Amino acid sequence: MEHSLMGPSSLERRMLCPGSYHQEVQLPPDQEASFPELAAQNTELHEMIGQVILSNMTTEDALEAAGDHSGAVLSCLRYAQVMIERNPHALVNVEHRVDCGGMHHSVQRGTADLVLVEAFHRAIVVDWKLGYRQPAPAESNLQLAAYAVAVSDEFETPEVAIAVVMGRMGRVSQALLGPDQLDDARERINGIAERASNPMAPLRPSADACRYCKAKATCPALAEVTFQALESGADVEGWTPVQLAQLLGVAYMAAEWAGAVKSEAYKRLSMGGQVPGYQLVEGNRRKSWKDDVTVEQLEELAEELKKDKDAILSPRKLASPAAVGKAWGRAKKTQAALEELIDTRRDRARLETTTREE
Ligand code: SF4
Repeated sequence: MEHSLMGPSSLERRMLCPGSYHQEVQLPPDQEASFPELAAQNTELHEMIGQVILSNMTTEDALEAAGDHSGAVLSCLRYAQVMIERNPHALVNVEHRVDCGGMHHSVQRGTADLVLVEAFHRAIVVDWKLGYRQPAPAESNLQLAAYAVAVSDEFETPEVAIAVVMGRMGRVSQALLGPDQLDDARERINGIAERASNPMAPLRPSADACRYCKAKATCPALAEVTFQALESGADVEGWTPVQLAQLLGVAYMAAEWAGAVKSEAYKRLSMGGQVPGYQLVEGNRRKSWKDDVTVEQLEELAEELKKDKDAILSPRKLASPAAVGKAWGRAKKTQAALEELIDTRRDRARLETTTREE
């Protein structure tokens, strides 16, 4: 997936914090994305979904490879299948490069996950969201709006249906953009790009804007709110609900900033640089079998060395209720019998913002 600095996927950040474009542009080209492991996993899952749609991979293989994320991948695949079946004459484009040339000159191209096209008539643009956070709904999703405008320009379709598929939540948000809505979207995007291109554009830190910003470690505005938070004292019980809510917002931003500072220190030390007073120490050593080692191979070795074969396999463990329920099927009698044996407890409630996935 392509994430250019003024591409469709960064428009929401440019809207929330217009100065973010110039902050990110100044960074070295090899600056890591925020949450690089999550970004890599996200890319891998997107590629898998694309490969199944293109019939280069079976659904079973994809689900097995997706492991813990198989439910999210399956939701996306089911949606793709339904849409392709409902639009048998549409051209199917996977990971389609959209050219945003018909928008403000600074808006760069992006990659739409799935685009179904009946040229001169209608297009459908679908975006897979595989994170744990709630994305913006389709009707206000700037990324999808930019894809829709670009696809409408490319295939001359007067209307474009857009869909945000939230794989982990099993939900879909959809909207239909006709000629008027496409014009409005183009105008809105152009305005955002114009404001963000201005070198004097203001920095507006917020949890939503800063979360995925690459400039977190170097941003003066984010550092300032963090220091303000540190100066606010620790008389937590005396704070009013409004003060607490405001400081909580700052606390989330401060955590983002702190994470970015730690990542930068880690990166410099791992490249041989200096951070006075800090060093990298070796992580714990973990051993695992090489990928091609089989049980039979180990059993043969045990025989040859006259060692205990039983030590090769871990003792049998109870599978989780969810795994047993899945394996035994959804029949009412089975589920009722299992329910009798299951103790259900809820984890402690989580404190979350209403921030959204990019
Ligand atoms: S870290 Fe936040 S305030 Fe700073 S540029 Fe990025 S989005 Fe804007």
